[in-house]
Amino acid sequence: MTELKGALIGCGFFAVNQMHAWNDVKGARIAAICDRDPERLKIVGEQFGITRRYCDASQLFADGGFDFVDIATTVQSHHPLVEMAARHKVPVICQKPFATTLADAKAMVKACRDAGVPLMVHENFRWQTPIQAVRRALDAGVIGEPFWGRFSFRSAYDVFSGQPYLAAGERFIIEDLGIHTLDIARFILGDVAALTARTRRVNPNIRGEDVATILLDHQSGATSVVDVSYATRLATEPFPETLIELDGSHGTIRLSQGYRLEVTDAQGTKVTDVSPRLLSWASRPWHNIQESVFAIQQHWTDRLAAGEAPSTSGADNLKTFALVEAAYDSAATGKTIDIGAML
Ligand code: NAD
Repeated sequence: MTELKGALIGCGFFAVNQMHAWNDVKGARIAAICDRDPERLKIVGEQFGITRRYCDASQLFADGGFDFVDIATTVQSHHPLVEMAARHKVPVICQKPFATTLADAKAMVKACRDAGVPLMVHENFRWQTPIQAVRRALDAGVIGEPFWGRFSFRSAYDVFSGQPYLAAGERFIIEDLGIHTLDIARFILGDVAALTARTRRVNPNIRGEDVATILLDHQSGATSVVDVSYATRLATEPFPETLIELDGSHGTIRLSQGYRLEVTDAQGTKVTDVSPRLLSWASRPWHNIQESVFAIQQHWTDRLAAGEAPSTSGADNLKTFALVEAAYDSAATGKTIDIGAML
């Protein structure tokens, strides 16, 4: 198999994980990097031995010589960079949040579709080992038809020191973290017909909301609650674990803190340790997320080589992004939002 060559744009805080993961992925490697900040470009270039370095993305695309681009910048630059990739017919991965508005996200999906280039949103949380284990437990059928779920992420972890921009935005937890939790809810219980949300800000030192409680009516008829908080101090800090409860017609699934999976049916309860692997370059407590970065990048490489669409394609991600917009809309108006009408 010939190795795919990638170019990475945005050499910031999170891109370091992506660069480590590309080193481990079979079938792809990074051939060039770009950052408008020369300091970040130098740090990442030297750490990973990449000599092709660019401060300007348009120069990177003009020179070419790569099979896909991995956009790891913050959201403001996603729209122009994705459209630049589409114009150059280069398959593209884009970090979440994909866009600042649903209209922008739709325009980016259209640009790639019209150009005939594959597009994947780096929506990695569904690729976490414990989340995949819940999916498999549900698919095994022992709990029957799921009718209720809870997808919960509650923490007091200081995310602001590594990502200071998170404290400054008008929007915070739904756009940054809840977007992943909403995607997990879709991955486990299917697409959503209607959404109701309530938010609040507890931390006085940030601008956006740090607590959100979201009620989802799934198209299947199941109901779920997505609850996220960065204002919740607990005896043992659970960051960055997503905890899941699922009730089905014949049993239940619980993913609890410490990566413990319980599946209960009429025969009793089976308990499994679904801890993520600690990859050689990973560090606790981020290792769960870091392993999912490797998993999604391997998935992209395999799908691109096979000519197949990735799990979190741009088109798929519109259905997650719509939930983010709907949650802000519902919190502002107090109304329940019809998701179908947005797509
Ligand atoms: P960051 O600010 O540390 O890094 C972004 C980098 O992009 C900076 O070095 C900046 O100079 C560069 N950049 C911005 N615009 C550019 C442009 N037009 N051309 C070239 N370079 C440009 O941000 P971060 O914390 O690394 O976050 C990046 C993205 O990753 C965000 O969208 C964030 O939400 C996402 N993220 C995802 C996860 C996850 O688990 N999927 C986790 C953390 C962050």
